[in-house]
Amino acid sequence: MNYETVVGLEIHSELSTVTKMYCGCATSFGSEPNIHCCPVCLAMPGALPVLNKTAVEFAIKAGLAMNCAITRSGKQDRKNYFYPDLPKAYQISQLDTPLCVGGYIDITVGDEVKRIRINRIHIEEDAGKLLHEAGGGTLVDFNRGGTPLIEIVTEPDIRSSEEARLFLESVKAILEYIEVSDCKMEQGSLRCDVNVSVRPAGQTEFGTRTEMKNVNSFRSAVRAIDFESKRQIEELEYGGTIVQETRKWNDDKGESYPMRGKEEAQDYRYFPDPDLVQIVVDDEMLERIKSSLPELPDARKARYVGDYGLTRYDAEQITNSRCLADFFEKAVSGGVSPKAVGNWIIGDISKILNEKSMEAGDIPFLPEQLAKLVTLIEEGVISNTAGKKVLDELFENPRDPELIVKEKGLVQISDEGALKAVVVQIIDANPQSVADYKAGKEKAVTFLVGQTMRATKGQGNPQMLNKLIKEELDSR
Ligand code: ADP
Ligand code: MG
Ligand code: ZN
Repeated sequence: MNYETVVGLEIHSELSTVTKMYCGCATSFGSEPNIHCCPVCLAMPGALPVLNKTAVEFAIKAGLAMNCAITRSGKQDRKNYFYPDLPKAYQISQLDTPLCVGGYIDITVGDEVKRIRINRIHIEEDAGKLLHEAGGGTLVDFNRGGTPLIEIVTEPDIRSSEEARLFLESVKAILEYIEVSDCKMEQGSLRCDVNVSVRPAGQTEFGTRTEMKNVNSFRSAVRAIDFESKRQIEELEYGGTIVQETRKWNDDKGESYPMRGKEEAQDYRYFPDPDLVQIVVDDEMLERIKSSLPELPDARKARYVGDYGLTRYDAEQITNSRCLADFFEKAVSGGVSPKAVGNWIIGDISKILNEKSMEAGDIPFLPEQLAKLVTLIEEGVISNTAGKKVLDELFENPRDPELIVKEKGLVQISDEGALKAVVVQIIDANPQSVADYKAGKEKAVTFLVGQTMRATKGQGNPQMLNKLIKEELDSR
């Protein structure tokens, strides 16, 4: 039987406020354990929380950027559960008055635009961290306890691991553009819980879902969804049933396993936190936040398609990173072909960044230098192949591409007379290729172009060599 996978995501993102959600302690990553703590975030008896206004503004900013309606008057609720990294034995969250409701993000799947609806975005606080010692025993670090979080909950509109990845990339891009989170997944500032169910293709009701916790990279999300949907399909095919449960994703093993039965809202005995006042969002505040929104990835994407003639896919590859998009815009501002610049960015530059585990912000050369490289190729001064050598050099020791071309002797030979001599010499040396060509084997030309390129140390103009070889072969 054919099955359809259904996915809903709950994404937690740490907000990049200077201080914690309910006290003046610094938010930090990588500090010495338990130095950013106070009576409030350690839950000493009688300590009282005061809400961080910037965290509320950041959450609203995220909501507006994701097309949500903003709740003008809301409360905060206690979600009660015991865990050693949670000293209050409750987490302050929002149950039924989330700050933002009913938004969406559009993703591009193949050639189609697909809308993924967002159910809500609410604010809550992060817990501390448990450090399990290799030799046994566990230590607790409360530095993270009380860090402001937003939780973004989607409707079950996602239909594959690929769509989930595209959605997560969009969320990350938006949060980066609006500067409310650093989105460092390796530091846990963006993590998600993945809900998965399957149903026979064509069936309208959803199947029973499981929820996987502990997914903290896009790659893990993709693997976790693929693993879980396959597991559920196999279970059903063998006549079993799916139990609604919470599972833990183990990234090293590439498997999920049952953690606990599904908890319901009533299990947490939610109630409004009596120590906190109502959150009121007035017109002035809302307008101020609205007007602080920068151009968002979608608008930028549309501009790149409209103004620069990029494909939607290419535009998305670039605009998904604000840094990369800024680099692109600076490079094309001097008038070189946006398509060519885009191809270098999406192709070789992204590949090198990937190989070196670098971010777009770490590109060591200037956008103007990339523009110059593209110009040298467009003017026929160097070949595309030589361009790649120049790019490698730009990463190693950034300087003027023209200088690199001179130093490395990369200038392309476009002198017909000089190339013709090489062509004749190579064809004379390869009678078999001439025979192959006469027998209709076009591949002979490719072979001869390769040989002449080698003879010119890669500096022959390939289009010209191609043309000269064909002429010479036809004349024999
Ligand atoms: P809970 O609070 O119990 O986790 P929610 O209504 O908040 O329940 O839903 C949690 C997530 O589960 C949402 O992202 C939602 O889209 C997703 N979800 C709900 N039903 C399904 C389903 N049948 N298959 C996959 N995901 C689902
Ligand atoms: Mg849930
Ligand atoms: Zn504190």
